[in-house]
This record gives sequence, structure tokens and C-alpha cells, in this order.
Amino acid sequence: MRLEQALRSGRHVPVREAGEADLLLVNTCGFIDAAKDESIEVVRGLDESRREGQQLYVVGCLTQIAGDTVKQAVPGVDQIFGAEQWDAIAASVGAASSTFDIPDGGLPLLGQPSAYLKISDGCDRPCTFCIIPTIKGRMHSGASRQLIAEARMFAAAGAKELVLVAQDSTAYGEDEGDRDGLAKLLEELSEAVPQVPWIRLMYAYPGRVTPRLAEAMAGLPNVVPYLDMPLQHGSDSMLQRMKRPRLSKSHESIEVVRKAIPDVVLRTTFIVGFPGETEDEFDELLDFVEEQEFDHVGAFTYSPQASTPAATMPDQVPDEVMEERYGALMELAQSISHDKNRAMVGREVDILVESEEPTESASGELVVVGRTYRDAPEVDGLAFLKGTYPAGSLVRARVDGALPYDLLCSPLP
Ligand code: SF4
Repeated sequence: MRLEQALRSGRHVPVREAGEADLLLVNTCGFIDAAKDESIEVVRGLDESRREGQQLYVVGCLTQIAGDTVKQAVPGVDQIFGAEQWDAIAASVGAASSTFDIPDGGLPLLGQPSAYLKISDGCDRPCTFCIIPTIKGRMHSGASRQLIAEARMFAAAGAKELVLVAQDSTAYGEDEGDRDGLAKLLEELSEAVPQVPWIRLMYAYPGRVTPRLAEAMAGLPNVVPYLDMPLQHGSDSMLQRMKRPRLSKSHESIEVVRKAIPDVVLRTTFIVGFPGETEDEFDELLDFVEEQEFDHVGAFTYSPQASTPAATMPDQVPDEVMEERYGALMELAQSISHDKNRAMVGREVDILVESEEPTESASGELVVVGRTYRDAPEVDGLAFLKGTYPAGSLVRARVDGALPYDLLCSPLP
């Protein structure tokens, strides 16, 4: 968003297809090896398919820590910038032609029904596997006035969902000495954009979901009963080695949010194969997942990040053991997800349509693809809805069938 604003001030506008752009700009992730590889693959693909005269810039976390690696992998890249160098990027691009006709009433944003609102950046937590604090520095909260202005812009462009993201969203305001900062921000956002029906909170930190925050979530009509809280493991000894909060803090936060919002949808993520993880510790993780019945579970196999304490810890877990554990965890998570989806059959839900065009189902019917409030964009499941509806529609529907992660739905008359 900040980069988009900086570029817009030079009269540049986003386009839907890479082929239409004068500048191809890739914002990279350097968090884990899989994300690094994916970033480089995207850059390579764009480099290979770009037409004469198109510029290719690569920016963000990966280039902050490994700009040379990107340059070596794709030597044709025109410019490389590190994290948050928005103004420098805009200055390098320069201003667009003044003959460009900017429409009245503000420019449409990329037109997606969902928009990400980054509420803070950086992180002060000590997780031993994580390179983010080195890349991003200390946590700094966005000014609430600025965030509300961004939310209003998204709402004016037709967004139906705001997804609040940060490295640690529950730390919002702590750098200003306000431990209730996130609850207050949710209240301000809810009031500022009542026309946005879904405000969603991602990346809470265990132990920092306060009763004040949970009550705010429960009481605000357009904050969805959904919380993403990466917990990383279910064994206390593992959490200690990761320098994460004790398991009791995870239990405490789950309890706080379930007490305030009994039907809250909980998403979490875990690392499997962190150095020293024994079979018993992994079994503790499985027991934890089974006991808590998380609605959505994401998992990563551990990948060492240079300059982090965990990278040099003894007892690194062999790849094949990690893969096996990853498979066992995801099999369990999938069966829980399937049960939860089966329990949805017969219920009425609102579906936010995301697909631009309908597609044909196996039975030859036209369907559009969207999500219910129970699923966050890009990481959770989908809802397949019979009929043809434009992207951004909210359609009342009944759940007819359940797949392990996705729902099959029919519109209600
Ligand atoms: S809280 Fe998240 S971003 Fe911060 S150090 Fe831990 S894993 Fe990294």
C-alpha cells in the first residue's frame, strides 16, 4: 500500500496483466527457503516473458538480505531495492507522462474484493528460527489516522474485506506504550468503514490476546469471528528452544478468545522438524492439534535461516523425518477440517465471490469461486457456488456439501 501510494503520487497506476505494464515490480519474501525460491521463480518467469522496454524491479525482504543472490539468479533485473524503500523506488521510477488521464473520484485499487491492511512492521520477539527482526528491525506501528485513511480508500474502491496483517498484530500500539492499541484500532476501523462487512485479524501472538481485544472482536459487527494465531509448536520444550511463549500462553489465548466468541474460527501454523525435535515432542504437537481441533492448520518444515540461533543448533532433523512428520500433521489437520466442513452442511452462509469468471464444474454446471468468513484469502479453503456472480458480490447461500478444505454451495432464492 505504501509503495502503491508512492507510485501513484508519480501518476503511475496498477494494471491487471503483466503484459500491460511498463514496470514489473516484484515484492519478495525472505522468511523461509520455500518463499525465497518462489520469489526467485516469479522474478525469473517475468524476466523470461517480458517484452522489450519493460523494466523489472525486485524489492523487499529477500533483496534486503540477499540482493546479490537475486541478481546472480536473474542477471537481467534492472533495479534492486531492500525492504520498505518505497520513496527510493518511486524516485527511481520517476513520474509518469502528464498526458495520462487519471479518472475523477480517485483511482480504482487493484479491484480485489479483499485488501490487506498492514498495521505495523518489524518485530521485537526473540524467536530463534526467524530472520524477520534482522530484516525489518524493531516493531513500529502505523499511525491509526493513516490506517483509517487507507481503509477508507479500500472501501471506496469496493473492497468487501480488510485483512489486518503485521509480523505480530497484537503488538500494535506497544511501541507507543499502549497495550490495548489493537482493540482500539479495530474499534476505530469498524466505525470508519461500516460498509466493509468483513474485517479479519491475522498473526496474533500467544499470550497477547487480551480479554479487552477478544471482547472488542466479539462486539464489533463487521469484525469476523476468526483469529489467526501462529503457535509454532505444541510441546513446551520445543517452544523453549524456539524462544516462544510457553504452551500455557497458547492455552490462555485460545481460552480467552473462545470464551468471548464461542464459535470463533481458529487458524494456526506450526513448524515441524525444528532442531532437536524428538518423536515424543512431535507426538505432543499432534495431541495438541487433536485436543484443540483448530479449524485451519498450516505447517512448514523447518529450514535454517543464516544468522539465526536455530541454524547452528545441534540435532538438526533429517529431511525425510521432517517430511514424514509434516505428512502426519497435515493428515490429522485435514481430517479435522473435513469434520468441521461436514458440520457446515445445511447451514446458511454469505459467500464473497472472488473469481472473475465462472467455471464449469465436473457435472457441467457453472460455478463461481469464493469464500465464507471462515476462510482467509489465499491460505484457507474455498466455497464453490452454483451460478454466475461478479467478483465482489456477497451471496447468501446454503452449504450442500463438504470437501476436506472446501465447501459446495447453492444460492438461496
Ligand atoms: S513473532 Fe513472528 S516475525 Fe516475530 S520473530 Fe517470531 S516468528 Fe518472527
